[in-house]
Amino acid sequence: MQFTLKLFKSQEEHFHFRAKIFFMEKNLDNLRHSLSHLLAAAVLELYPGTKPTLGPPVEDGFYYDFDFTAPPSEKDLPKIEKKMREILKTWTTFEGKEITPEEAKKIFKGNPYKLELIEEIKERGEKITLYTSGKFTDLCRGGHIETMKHIDPTGFKIDRLAGAYWRGNEKNKQLTRIYGLAFETKKDLEDYIVRKEEASKRDHRKIGKEMEIFAFDDDVGGGLALWLPNGTVIAEELENLAKETEFQAGYVRVKTPHLGKESLYLKSGHLPYYKDTRRWNMRKQNTTSKQ
Ligand SMILES: [Zn+2]
Repeated sequence: MQFTLKLFKSQEEHFHFRAKIFFMEKNLDNLRHSLSHLLAAAVLELYPGTKPTLGPPVEDGFYYDFDFTAPPSEKDLPKIEKKMREILKTWTTFEGKEITPEEAKKIFKGNPYKLELIEEIKERGEKITLYTSGKFTDLCRGGHIETMKHIDPTGFKIDRLAGAYWRGNEKNKQLTRIYGLAFETKKDLEDYIVRKEEASKRDHRKIGKEMEIFAFDDDVGGGLALWLPNGTVIAEELENLAKETEFQAGYVRVKTPHLGKESLYLKSGHLPYYKDTRRWNMRKQNTTSKQ
């Protein structure tokens, strides 16, 4: 049984739709990245002496990692958000400028994080660019909104704080990450917040525990579900439905082992993607004990 959903009248129409989505996403990324500059500018005004590190756009907004002398708490977030809106009024656009590694090192001499990035850009043989808006200048390779007029001051919100190690490495210093949510309009932002709240109420980890569907145990391993009676009933009913549907469609079932030799995963192309992960190691321990 095959379901076909025809959304587009022609390939050309499909192409135009894909192109439109691409540009919308790119614009949103530029908007979010521009807001990460604004966040850094607000933080530096409120907390002088803070060392900004990196600030990329993410799927629902942006973040920036900072090395604070005295990190802010959740209750300080509205103050940072307010400062961002104040500064936004004074910014018009981003001015880009290419500089030499030596000049860049001089500008960021008090910031070991930026110095590390400058050294890496230099080693890769890439151009070093600075982008300035208002009084704030950052080391950045570009990708901003054309004009600040395109930023809806009610379309973003500072969301939360988190700890983050520099370059994601736990041997490095822990920084403070400030997350923001950002959309083109206030309505898009509000809709997203509602959807997120609704989704968290339906989070499978929460429901699974409350309804006694599954449990986890450290002795078994992280992410390995132990199906409780309520969950087992659901799983069996789904399996029955799958079997019936397959039978009606003329399929016959086969069974294969859950594990295979390392060479099989190498041949299938999975091994290079999973060899460094815990999941692979677990699989490897299980298989090698029998070889
Ligand atoms: Zn930038």
